[in-house]
Amino acid sequence: MGRNPRSRNRSLLRRSGQDLSFGGRDPWAFAASGQPTRGKEGSPGAPELPATAARPLSGEAPSRPGRSNRSCLRILVVQTAFLGDVVLTTPLFRALRRVAPDAHLTALVTPAAAPLLEADPHLDEVLTYDKKGGESLAAVLRRVRRARFDRLLAPHRSHRSGLLALFSGIPVRVGFADGALSWAYTRRVDRPLDHHEVDRNLALLRGLGHEPVEADRVLHVGYTEVEGASVEAMLEQAGVKPGARLAGLCPGSIWPTKRWGAEGFAAVARALADRGLRPVLLGGPDDAGVASEVQRLAGDRSGVLNAAGRTPLKALAAWMDRLSVLVTNDSAPLHVAAARGTPTVAVFGPTTRGLGFAPFHAAARVVEVSLSCRPCGLHGGRRCPEGHFRCMGDVTPDQVLRALDDVLGGAA
Ligand code: SF4
Repeated sequence: MGRNPRSRNRSLLRRSGQDLSFGGRDPWAFAASGQPTRGKEGSPGAPELPATAARPLSGEAPSRPGRSNRSCLRILVVQTAFLGDVVLTTPLFRALRRVAPDAHLTALVTPAAAPLLEADPHLDEVLTYDKKGGESLAAVLRRVRRARFDRLLAPHRSHRSGLLALFSGIPVRVGFADGALSWAYTRRVDRPLDHHEVDRNLALLRGLGHEPVEADRVLHVGYTEVEGASVEAMLEQAGVKPGARLAGLCPGSIWPTKRWGAEGFAAVARALADRGLRPVLLGGPDDAGVASEVQRLAGDRSGVLNAAGRTPLKALAAWMDRLSVLVTNDSAPLHVAAARGTPTVAVFGPTTRGLGFAPFHAAARVVEVSLSCRPCGLHGGRRCPEGHFRCMGDVTPDQVLRALDDVLGGAA
């Protein structure tokens, strides 16, 4: 008999206190840029924010004029998990800026994730910790201790984050009560398991004596004019006319069980082309293989533009602004699309919305099949534990196309 999905979710969520970081590889190439940033907010209808100066990716000097490096409250947020987790932490930065407008606010993330935050108007500084690239915990601790932070918040519940907090020298350390090494934190906050990950992260505010508010619940991923221009240049080179309608396809994921089949993506690409949308394959270098397979299966007639592996991570947000719709697996582009307000259809297999990582976006639909073995992992796995992989194998292109029609109001 299948387990109750709700209790299965709770069990998976509790077990996830281990390190949730990448499997050692950076799934996206990225190129940092020092150009002025664009400030469009993700939520549909949200106001345009002013451009901000680019921030250093490491070092200790604040780039935001008017906020002192030494005299103001210095807050560090430690989030060295996956790219998607970093995107889902951006509302916490917004909330901290609201409750501490004069604080110096720093995020500590992996080098892979840093480009996602370069244009975040709520951050003063982005520090990187190359934990998979050989930087020792002692080395990053030396940098953190030198920076003399007053407060630490840790959305990432890993052992490594606990150790970092413990030896950081930071007097007030806020973490989750169910995280690894929770005793390393001076203030422990309950993590609301039944809530979206955005709201779980925002719960950390309570450790500083503040309640999250509705206005905090907005994702942000920005980009610079450089990325915007690179996207336009690639489109021009491919002969795409200005104003042409584009449909993004992200067939990759670091986890094999989270990938819907290349045949399915190819069938959707052909149908999109028939409906007047130019399909564009997006992804990092690790996704280039599956993207090429989708392109081959879709055939020349579909006119698929393959940008996977040819576009930096930071340009992903620029691509999202150019798309009429995105079809993706449950992976980081899903959350970047939510941050940019791009209509999205997401195919979920081994994961479910109940785990807390559903699209944080009204104009999104999830396509999935009902199986008692779902969910079987917080992040999916390398192999199907049941051996049949029906959670993805049973999803049909017709289901995805119906969801596309729905999300686009029948305009696909
Ligand atoms: S079919 Fe079931 S067991 Fe296999 S990967 Fe999907 S959810 Fe997990």
